[in-house]
Amino acid sequence: MPGFSRMNANQRSRPNPPSEGSESGDSGILNEQILLLVFESIKWDLHVLCRTAAVNRKLRAVANRILWRQLCVYRAPRMVAGLANGGPNGRLGGGWHALAKLLFFCCGCESTRHFRVSQPSPGHFMKASRFSKTSGRSFLTKKCRGDLLYVSDPCEHPRGNAEDDLGVYRGVFREFPRSRTRACLVGRQVALEERVRCPYCGARVWSMTTARLVPKSAARRLGSHNGGLEYFVCLNGHLYGMCWLVPLSSDEDSCDDDDEDDGDDNEFGGDPTVSNGHMSLKGKEVIIEDGPPAN
Ligand SMILES: [Zn+2]
Ligand SMILES: [Zn+2]
Repeated sequence: MPGFSRMNANQRSRPNPPSEGSESGDSGILNEQILLLVFESIKWDLHVLCRTAAVNRKLRAVANRILWRQLCVYRAPRMVAGLANGGPNGRLGGGWHALAKLLFFCCGCESTRHFRVSQPSPGHFMKASRFSKTSGRSFLTKKCRGDLLYVSDPCEHPRGNAEDDLGVYRGVFREFPRSRTRACLVGRQVALEERVRCPYCGARVWSMTTARLVPKSAARRLGSHNGGLEYFVCLNGHLYGMCWLVPLSSDEDSCDDDDEDDGDDNEFGGDPTVSNGHMSLKGKEVIIEDGPPAN
């Protein structure tokens, strides 16, 4: 799967057009103020920014320093405000480029240790995604409910008649280094996965299934069944995973540890509604669209 900044990688070697002043780094295209105005005028077009960051090293540096952050702020102001405690100028685990990718790119699915698919499903850009803290809470065990986590609705990948549809979802923690979840993983001495890397930042990941930190509420939220999902959390606090989307069944039991979450459901701010076996979420959501915001 091509990384964001590796799109059109063949363009990277294209030399910067020689022009007076390009040595000083102050030719128009490298002037940050001008770039900001240009991107503002095109409403922070994601694909243009991907291509811009792939042109050469200088533009990639400008993108990493300022443009990806501005794109995130423009497209997801509420979510960025929730994630960046110290304001949008703060540093973010894995960088703003990784967050931008997480907002707009479904990473697809390959077989993992605890989740087998007959064929990998490729990653792709998303036209729109819905992230919510309410959904995020369903992925936290009781002890870790104080953490702030945004999780997207599952992106549905049809598998034909023979198999259930695949759901692929992603999310991000606020201040992961200080989260209860990380403390729990470290405290339990859960080993990082050997071969798996975060599709958003490239860091190593923990399997929450291996860590036995998957609450039953996660399957319920996704419209999957216990054991029919796996998700990973990387060292920078990105979450991604997959599940089988099947009609809900309430009486399956899990042999997971004491992560009963019953009784907390009313803290979710309203029951999820169920239609066609899949849940739709009510509550605080952030809808990210690959296009200008509605207002
Ligand atoms: Zn997808
Ligand atoms: Zn990551």
